[in-house]
Amino acid sequence: MATNTLDDSDGDDYEETESALETALRQLSEAAAQIDVDDGVIERLKHPTRVVEVGVPLKRDDGSVEVFTGYRAQHDDVRGPYKGGLRYHPEVTAEECTGLSMWMTWKCAVMDLPFGGAKGGIVVNPKELSTGEKERLTRRFAEEIRETIGPKKDIPAPDMGTDAQTMAWFMDAYSMQEGETTPGVVTGKPPVIGGSEGREEAPGRSVAIIAREALRYYDKTVDESTVAVQGFGSVGANAARLLDDWGANVVAVSDVNGAAYDTNGLDTHAIPSHEEQPEAVMQYDAPNTLTNEELLELDVDVLVPAALGNVLTADNADDVQADIVVEGANGPTTSAADAILDERDVPVIPDILANAGGVTVSYFEWLQDINRRQWSLERVNDELESMMLSAWGDVRAEVEAGDMSWRDAAYAVALGRVGDAKTSRGLWP
Ligand code: NAD
Repeated sequence: MATNTLDDSDGDDYEETESALETALRQLSEAAAQIDVDDGVIERLKHPTRVVEVGVPLKRDDGSVEVFTGYRAQHDDVRGPYKGGLRYHPEVTAEECTGLSMWMTWKCAVMDLPFGGAKGGIVVNPKELSTGEKERLTRRFAEEIRETIGPKKDIPAPDMGTDAQTMAWFMDAYSMQEGETTPGVVTGKPPVIGGSEGREEAPGRSVAIIAREALRYYDKTVDESTVAVQGFGSVGANAARLLDDWGANVVAVSDVNGAAYDTNGLDTHAIPSHEEQPEAVMQYDAPNTLTNEELLELDVDVLVPAALGNVLTADNADDVQADIVVEGANGPTTSAADAILDERDVPVIPDILANAGGVTVSYFEWLQDINRRQWSLERVNDELESMMLSAWGDVRAEVEAGDMSWRDAAYAVALGRVGDAKTSRGLWP
């Protein structure tokens, strides 16, 4: 069976023995069992609206021509335009894009964003492209899928192997062909051409907000809590620093090489994040160091796995000593580990809620673009705070009403919204 990796700036990261599509279909049937949704609606949600496949020719720097395969999978748009990342990766498949597009449907729905789910990409190793080749490939891909996307139809974003510059080229190519500057066609752009302030920090900020609310829910306070964060990248470092600023004792943070550990609390601002200096956590002068495996088993109030998928497994779930797990990465907990942690009454706050700050600020970016009005960082953060609290409240209400896990509750909220919208609109014709 294929192993799949999800990564999404609007979204996430999984390593599972089941494919992305199998995971998505399993999650759909599990969520369907939790709530009352019409069977016909569930049947419709098992299938994407469309999966577009295109050939993308590229003139290489040496003058030769190569044709790459690109995809855009659109799962469902009952609540609004499709939304999801574009990844450049050698293992991109139509099936993977379809599974990940379903996952984006739930993520947007749990946040109550007026978007549906999409995902796309090109089967290519971006490390084997020069900057010029990557630009030409991106521009031609934008042209090949131009009829499929658009600011009112489907709004891509960066994902694995793509970034703000890729989105800038994509937006320029689309705009040139449409004859008008159209910043709202993609999110994750540089702020100078319509990107949003606070977009980069948003997933980590949402993780910190949700960790704070989870602590409150379980009768703890941030300033009396200890936190361990695996991965000191965009998500992990931003979450750790905010929790530190709010008074938490961040005792351990790690990168691929291992963890810095101080029971008195680390100075998280003094440790270089992945972006500031890649893989430099161990250069920080901490009193102790740990392996990544040891970090996951620390006796802390909150554990934030924010590096990779599938780090909490059947092998270590029994050894997790944290009181609460808040998923920063996508899919850090396997379903076997989930069951063990549930049995042990260790709450796991799911990725689709905790790291959804990224897609939420993408929504703000889109609003700013279509209104031609830039928001201040303060406004972005205020609105993000209020949307995270609202989604948290919705999921918490489901947890309390249905006596279910946080993950099941988040999926129930999402599927309930999509199902209600489908029932209300009916089936055309
Ligand atoms: P990043 O590249 O900025 O940082 C990743 C960090 O993880 C680095 O510090 C790296 O050293 C560390 N790491 C890598 N391998 C490791 C290992 N084996 N053990 C421990 N640490 C390891 O990545 P990111 O953008 O912060 O993404 C982290 C996770 O969050 C991914 O699962 C991603 O899909 C997910 N996510 C990212 C965003 C986003 O917008 N950046 C949004 C939602 C979810």
